Amino acid sequence: MRVRSAFKKYSQVPSMARLSGAETARRILSEQGIYDVAVEETGGSLSDHYDPSSKVVRLSSDNFHGHHLAGLAVAAHEVGHAIQHANGYLPLNLRHAILPVANLGSSLGFPMVIGGMLFGFTGLIDIGILFFAGAVIFQLVTLPVEFNASSRAMAILSQGYLAGDEVSSAKKVLNAAAMTYVAAAATAVMQLVHLLLMRGSDD
Ligand SMILES: [Zn+2]
Repeated sequence: MRVRSAFKKYSQVPSMARLSGAETARRILSEQGIYDVAVEETGGSLSDHYDPSSKVVRLSSDNFHGHHLAGLAVAAHEVGHAIQHANGYLPLNLRHAILPVANLGSSLGFPMVIGGMLFGFTGLIDIGILFFAGAVIFQLVTLPVEFNASSRAMAILSQGYLAGDEVSSAKKVLNAAAMTYVAAAATAVMQLVHLLLMRGSDD
């Protein structure tokens, strides 16, 4: 809710740079000497992301077309991921590599542990916990990737894209977005602890 309200607020504040999110993204990419990353519009709200496998920065329609602070901040953040990719930033590559394992772990981890407990298979419980741990590691690796993309974005935006108190407003937008990742990681860690406690009490 905090993310949505921060976005809502700053998507009504026009940016002094008078650039749409798409223009911001394209301008920063070329300033950084990155010419093989496309900028495209995508459906949904808060669906903005960088896709390392196809090298595309995708911005939701409102951020793609809008000339507001939220769009400017989000566009710079997503380009921050493209810069990480171009520089071979290790946590980004790691995150991308463990994504399939993480997807498997978050969907199968819990059911495997429950099944193992129901049928008394300790081995299945342990494998389920290992699977789920893969998903937790993914959430934890996501944190430095996200914070680093935002700090790259702020460093670039502060050099000529933002004026006056726009700097602190853009920071608020990006901090609100980062909070969702912190909350997701904290939830995943607590679920893992829960699974370990369930395993302990089962012995
Ligand atoms: Zn991000």
